[in-house]
Amino acid sequence: MLLQKMIQTPLLMTKEELSTLIQTISDKELQTLMQAADTVRREHFGDTVYLRALIEFSSHCAQDCYYCGLRHSNSNAQRYRLNLDTILDCCTGAYELGYRTFVLQSGEDFSYSRKDIYDIVYAIKSSYPDTAITLSIGEKSYDDYKAYFDAGADRYLLRHEAASRRLYELIHPETMSYDNRHRCLRDLKEIGFQVGAGFMVGLPTQTADDLAEDIIFIRNLRPHMVGIGPYLTHKDTPFCDKNSGTLRETLIMLALTRLTLPDVLLPATTSLETLEDSGRSKGLITGANVIMPNVSPQNVRKKYMLYDNKFGTTGGAEEMKLAITNQIQEIGFNVDMQVGHHPSRSKTKWQKHPEEKEST
Ligand code: SAH
Ligand code: SF4
Repeated sequence: MLLQKMIQTPLLMTKEELSTLIQTISDKELQTLMQAADTVRREHFGDTVYLRALIEFSSHCAQDCYYCGLRHSNSNAQRYRLNLDTILDCCTGAYELGYRTFVLQSGEDFSYSRKDIYDIVYAIKSSYPDTAITLSIGEKSYDDYKAYFDAGADRYLLRHEAASRRLYELIHPETMSYDNRHRCLRDLKEIGFQVGAGFMVGLPTQTADDLAEDIIFIRNLRPHMVGIGPYLTHKDTPFCDKNSGTLRETLIMLALTRLTLPDVLLPATTSLETLEDSGRSKGLITGANVIMPNVSPQNVRKKYMLYDNKFGTTGGAEEMKLAITNQIQEIGFNVDMQVGHHPSRSKTKWQKHPEEKEST
């Protein structure tokens, strides 16, 4: 009954019904749920899996999230930051491999000023106007976000992490605020970014009710992207003795998300591949349609350790693209390296600023 309701009228599911479904779904019902999510994804995107080039440009972080290996208090973390030229080199390499979206991610590193990020985004967009730029650099002010948008950034990933206030507050120190995270998401939407929210599955003390709240939250926010991955343990965090999330519960949440937001961009995450070999393939057959291969310089990749044993810290960008392309084709999907905006925005709107145009 609940399963059929979820498949046929997902927007009518109550929080209680979602929670019961998450808690009681049998293996056989999960197969049906995954197939339904796959069908919905096919209706909107066909066989296409978008590839985005991920550049992790700084491992410094001023925040102290209890789950993350980059947290400020982790004195064992290895820190690095890339300058504009190195970031541009990564983009050039990725562009030559065919990538048309660059995802720039970092810890919350205050050594990059508003102008620094503006300059990075503007420089990339000036060199490669036919690309999309996604930022994922944490909580900032409205004016910061507006400046990044004006520079040419198209998208912003800021997972809400946990929609349940109780859970959010349990996994973050008091210095971090649930309300501010949500203010950021609202600002980003208002400014005009394609916005990515998202959450971890299997967090310490997380219940089916909490996960149901995540589905209700994204249903109300209607983000363009939703990043969902298992929580994975990192040895140098306060949660070092907590269990990681499971593949099964992550697949349930991916399927529920696809059914709830049929045309959302939904990555099969690195954390899913870290959890289990071919984890991303399982994500793709459950409704995911984006993969973000790492194109950061090889000598820094092992230093961006959000969790233990992170997948994809070795191998060149070309090698990784090939391996991922094979993985995608093996399960009958096709790689799409185009910009791949959310269906609600089909064209890049960016133009060089007038004063720049005059001088060129
Ligand atoms: N500092 C930025 C972006 C980098 S962290 C931010 O926090 O938004 C990117 C994402 O990694 C986070 O949103 C979080 O959901 C995920 N992450 C961090 N630690 C993790 C862990 N131990 N297991 C799984 N995902 C983790
Ligand atoms: Fe920093 Fe992001 Fe990790 Fe939190 S999740 S410690 S903000 S890098």
